[in-house]
Amino acid sequence: MDRALITYFKSPQSFTGEDVVELSCHGSPVLLLEIVDVLLHLGARVADPGEFTLRALANKRLNLSQAEAIRDLIDAQTTAGVKQAARQLGGELSARLQPVKETLLSIIVPLESALEFVEDDLPRVAVRQILAQLSVLIEQLEQLASTFRAGRLLKEGLRVALAGRPNVGKSSLFNSLLARDRALVTSFPGTTRDSLSELVNIKGVPVLLTDTAGVRDSPDEIERLGIERTRRAIAEADLVVVVLDGTTPVSAEDAEVLAEVGDSRHIIVLNKCDLDSFSSERANLQDNGRPPLAISATKAIGLDSLRAAILQPFATRETPETDFLITNARHFDLLRRSVAALRSTIDLFHHRASEELLLVGLYEALNFLGGITGETTPEDVLTRIFATFCIGK
Ligand code: GDP
Repeated sequence: MDRALITYFKSPQSFTGEDVVELSCHGSPVLLLEIVDVLLHLGARVADPGEFTLRALANKRLNLSQAEAIRDLIDAQTTAGVKQAARQLGGELSARLQPVKETLLSIIVPLESALEFVEDDLPRVAVRQILAQLSVLIEQLEQLASTFRAGRLLKEGLRVALAGRPNVGKSSLFNSLLARDRALVTSFPGTTRDSLSELVNIKGVPVLLTDTAGVRDSPDEIERLGIERTRRAIAEADLVVVVLDGTTPVSAEDAEVLAEVGDSRHIIVLNKCDLDSFSSERANLQDNGRPPLAISATKAIGLDSLRAAILQPFATRETPETDFLITNARHFDLLRRSVAALRSTIDLFHHRASEELLLVGLYEALNFLGGITGETTPEDVLTRIFATFCIGK
């Protein structure tokens, strides 16, 4: 059927650490199905989702946070997302956690032996030193956890909806931000009946941009469906961009759109600033204390300011380009739990609790950190994580 390249990876020099044979065939789906069929007849079986990565984990070829990075690498939607996943795959997260775990152990070990051999309390100097060390650890873990805000943005992205009455230039703006003609642009009101969504990349953040139909009461059945969808798009969006036409006074329809958007997070733009009849005073509106942004969708004026304004409410100190970011909610949760365990241990020290109690908190903190890299992750959690992988990965 085919001439194929067969590669034999001898254990342990393979991705999983086992003996592996890979067949590289020509990319015809029909041909590939035939070959899979033949292999199945010969006694092979189809792999489970993430099975190879799970085997690699079991054989200690990589740790859990690295395994998760493989999935993130495949799912990444922007170059910035790829870079973060690649850093995690390279072991950067585990490398950052390693010294924290070692310091924790260096506190735990003498405490354990104090428990076994000494009847008296720990000397004051030792307690003071431990408290100082714990504070430093808390600071380090919190710093790492604080990058999750930016990391989540990079991974999950933002949903942004464009809203406005017909003919203000929503589709034109949608196209300009996409820089290709996806939506149908006409000068008749109410022709953008459906809402369209496209993924755009704004400074590394994947933004799902939705162009909605005009929000207005309409007798037209199809258009009414569009309006329903608009309301849903507004409700589901992280941010709504309200588009007004800067060449005409604010109309009742505009007011209706603004009422529809209500308290949801939004920014107001005044479009068509390239025309002589444009006036920035038109709207006489305050957008969170600032005048609305003047743009031209068709002449691509003010789009960079608009892009910046879209990200601004979600902005963080971190520069996604250079910092290592926590992108995984599971990791963030475990970091927070670890910090909480350390904090309560500090409280116990202040209350002169017994070494046994102190050790419980310290072991807990260590276990949470171990959960990130997989040493202490329960089986059911592992199963859940690998179920989110694609088959054959
Ligand atoms: P929508 O109904 O809100 O989606 O509006 P469209 O994007 O279909 O635009 C309605 C009309 O306004 C079209 O004829 C566009 O070419 C025009 N238009 C949109 N944006 C601008 C702009 O920035 N400047 C000018 N001069 N015309 C614009």
